[in-house]
Amino acid sequence: MQALDCAIIGAGPAGMTAAIELSKGGAKVAVLDRGTRAGGQIYRAAAASPLPNTSALGPDYQAGAELIAAFERTDLTHFASSDAWHLGDDGRVLFSHLGETHELHCREMLLCPGAMERPMPIPGWTLPGVMTAGAAQVMLKSDATVAEGAVFAGSGPLLYLIVAQYLRLGVPVTALVDTTPRQNYLNAAPLLPRALRQAGQLKKGIALLREIRSAGIPQYRFAENLEVLGQNKAKGLRFTSGGQIREIAAETIFLHHGVQPNLNMTRAMDLAHRWNPQQLCWQVETDAFGQTSIQHISAAGDGAGIIGADGARIAGRLAALNILHRLGRLSEADRNRQATPGIAKLAAMAPFRAFIDRLYHPANALRLPQNPDTLVCRCEEQTLADLREGFNQGARDPNALKSLTRCGMGPCQGRQCGHMVTGLLSQWRAEPTEAVGYYRLRSPQRLLTLDELSRFQAVPAPTHAEAAE
Ligand SMILES: Cc1cc2nc3c(=O)[nH]c(=O)nc-3n(C[C@H](O)[C@H](O)[C@H](O)COP(=O)(O)OP(=O)(O)OC[C@H]3O[C@@H](n4cnc5c(N)ncnc54)[C@H](O)[C@@H]3O)c2cc1C
Repeated sequence: MQALDCAIIGAGPAGMTAAIELSKGGAKVAVLDRGTRAGGQIYRAAAASPLPNTSALGPDYQAGAELIAAFERTDLTHFASSDAWHLGDDGRVLFSHLGETHELHCREMLLCPGAMERPMPIPGWTLPGVMTAGAAQVMLKSDATVAEGAVFAGSGPLLYLIVAQYLRLGVPVTALVDTTPRQNYLNAAPLLPRALRQAGQLKKGIALLREIRSAGIPQYRFAENLEVLGQNKAKGLRFTSGGQIREIAAETIFLHHGVQPNLNMTRAMDLAHRWNPQQLCWQVETDAFGQTSIQHISAAGDGAGIIGADGARIAGRLAALNILHRLGRLSEADRNRQATPGIAKLAAMAPFRAFIDRLYHPANALRLPQNPDTLVCRCEEQTLADLREGFNQGARDPNALKSLTRCGMGPCQGRQCGHMVTGLLSQWRAEPTEAVGYYRLRSPQRLLTLDELSRFQAVPAPTHAEAAE
């Protein structure tokens, strides 16, 4: 079967920008995304919003429509509603599309799977009615659905953005419970002077916080000891703030304290990873062009380390320039010349990112479960006490713990519990996270039915055949 020049997984800012650049350079490209339209997380449904007016979502969101339009105008193959579940270092991609299994082959692969929200395993975090703040935004962007009277709890720019989006739309918010520790402000202060070089970003953040403050919703700062109340569903949130124990009644609690790379794809390919102490997460190792430990596999955007949407666009373009060079379509000198402004821009963005990472560094008490009864692995219903028992029985690394307790063996394949398990083992072993490692992952990376597997298309779809000609 003839191979495509490049398959890109993920049609967010990184994947779309890379695809446009690659196509401009003459490469045959296919882009796969499980979404029905391109856009990724930030620009979800930006080209066809169910909201009558998207101004409440902010100018960054509205700018996404232009990128999506440029992507849709580009001569490439876009497999929408397509979920990649096996990526081989031989260039083979297997994916599900409308209940069928498809296969394509490519010379180069670019992974742009984006980020996911960091789980916040407070007591009650798995009760019905508790969701992530990102889920609130997904519902809003995709279906114009909101939850009135919700409590938002946690820390970080995305949390404040979603609260502001709710308030602009006139959706009642019961409270914002901010868990950013007081100490973080002191820790981040020395990084402020360098972050000020990106004064625009800082102003944007301050304006967002002012907007929320002026809306007059109850806000609680330096909150600790969070616990969702309720037996069979959320009834409220208990926490301490200002030296007092407080309880707020609410049926919907949205939690958020940052995002981390979506690791399953890069881990299942056995690419080299490193621990990022600034962002408290694993990330795939790449060079400045996104090239990973396997030369013809590159990664860009938040899936390769959290850099935000603007950074993701730049990283996507850099990866594309390098892939064009590897395909023999761009000389090394031209690659380097065209890449220079992007590399410089990413470097200029780094101090602001470092400031944000330090300011919203998640507290260990919220990142790792504290209560023995709290679920860690939601799929296999394993609690903190179950995992500790496995550790006491001799399971010293994530894979041994998985074998003994089944944590990480469920349908999410450790997406939710992976970082928690690494963190817990690091604490229990009193050793750095790097020494503990992460789950060993395998394909398929999602649940598959036999029916879907049996409906196999060796030549994936007519559009792919055209692209591969
Ligand atoms: C829930 C959520 C909401 C966010 N909202 C905002 C926001 O409003 N504003 C903001 O500035 N930042 C937001 N962010 C951060 C933002 O996502 C990123 O900075 C930016 O979108 C990263 O771009 P990206 O191209 O790297 O990844 P993304 O935009 O996340 O795109 C990745 C794409 O890969 C696809 N994908 C992943 N795995 C597979 C697979 N196996 N098969 C097929 N497709 C796959 C996903 O469907 C997704 O469309 C949000 C993050 C999250 C997790």
